[in-house]
Amino acid sequence: MSIGKEWTPSELRYKLFRKKLCPRCRGRLKHHTVRTYMGRGFGTPQSAKISDMYLYVDWYYCEVCDQDYSISELATLDRKGNDG
Ligand SMILES: [Zn+2]
Repeated sequence: MSIGKEWTPSELRYKLFRKKLCPRCRGRLKHHTVRTYMGRGFGTPQSAKISDMYLYVDWYYCEVCDQDYSISELATLDRKGNDG
C-alpha cells in the first residue's frame, strides 16, 4: 500500500517541466524515491484490511556535491532562481 504525495503547483511544475539540475553546481541530478513508513492503516474505505502504509517522495541526488534535494526544496530554489 502506498500513499501518493500531495503536490503543490510549483512542485508539480518543476517535476514535469524543469530540467533537474543541481542548484549549486548545475550538474545533472539523479532521481530516486524515498519510502517513508507511515504506520498501519486502512488501505481504502472499501477495504477492511489493515496494512502497512508508505509514502513515496521524490528526491534528487547530486554526485558532485554529494547532496540530496527533495522535490519541494528544488521547486522553491527554482522559483527563486528564475521568474516564472
Ligand atoms: Zn551539485
